[in-house]
Amino acid sequence: MVRALITDPVDEYIVNELGRHGVIVDYKPGISKDDLLRIVGDYEILVVRSRTKVTREVIDAAGKLKVIARAGVGLDNIDVNYARSRGIEVINAPEGSTQSVAELAIGLMITAARLVALQDRLVKGGDWPKGKFMGTELFGKVLGIIGFGRIGQRVAELARAIGMKVQAYDIVDMRDRAVKLGVDFVDFETLIRSSDFITIHVSLTPNAKRMIGERELQMMKDGVIIINTSRGEVIDTRALLKALNDGKVAAAALDVLENEPPREPWEIELVKHPRVIITPHIGAETREAQRRIAEILVNKVVNYIMSNNIK
Ligand code: NAD
Repeated sequence: MVRALITDPVDEYIVNELGRHGVIVDYKPGISKDDLLRIVGDYEILVVRSRTKVTREVIDAAGKLKVIARAGVGLDNIDVNYARSRGIEVINAPEGSTQSVAELAIGLMITAARLVALQDRLVKGGDWPKGKFMGTELFGKVLGIIGFGRIGQRVAELARAIGMKVQAYDIVDMRDRAVKLGVDFVDFETLIRSSDFITIHVSLTPNAKRMIGERELQMMKDGVIIINTSRGEVIDTRALLKALNDGKVAAAALDVLENEPPREPWEIELVKHPRVIITPHIGAETREAQRRIAEILVNKVVNYIMSNNIK
């Protein structure tokens, strides 16, 4: 019998459907690293989200493992090269959360532009700050999208519907796709110099790490609003904190941080900054995204175990 270990919270569909296909499923969301190392050797399938770190040590302890299934997009918590070198298939469901993350990015843009979170905090504190702040519309503003993949393109469509002028940059030439979506495909420097809003949707490739640092922040328009729902490592957050304090950046809305939860003193300062909006990595945390991810993942895992005759 094929056995699957699930170590992070997932949609119940995964548990039920794998079971329906004859897989024995052990659902242990929140399992500790030590317990994982102790039991992972008993399983052919390991299902994780982003919390579980599937390191070389875990893979070495997983003698029977045939499939690592990531219920989501990013594979940065999995040592993919090492897993593949050991003949283990790594499967994910990258398309499942595109709409949810794109909607969150648009929501964060509006939240930042209208100071929604700040005003909410003030009212809850007994204040009534009507007339104290002036927001901005998204309509007619230039949105710069860094990383024009699945999510970046969906954000472009939604932003165009709101009436934004959209420009995008990607390391891959996506000019044809951009034209179809009514988007200007520009170089990196043009994008950061000329955007009113910048939203980041790159995958965490080595050259994406810290691609927004002090130099790039200084090139941006005064009063720029930055949204990051990709990965925390893409922005040098210490430089971002400085740019917020200098007034260069009007607001930043971040769903991702370098350390989640934040732990360094400067990160704590950043998340408490009045013009910073933080959500705790909730891009894919919708019922719809989780169900879509579950369906895609189960389909791929079942196909793999059947076509490779794993028993
Ligand atoms: P994707 O692979 O479809 O698109 C990523 C794009 O980034 C690609 O077109 C790639 O060429 C581009 N890219 C990579 N490095 C770049 C660089 N240095 N400069 C410019 N472009 C670069 O991925 P996607 O599904 O659109 O996801 C985008 C990001 O969103 C990923 O980082 C993913 O991990 C993240 N994500 C976050 C959440 C969340 O909960 N916040 C959920 C899902 C995905």
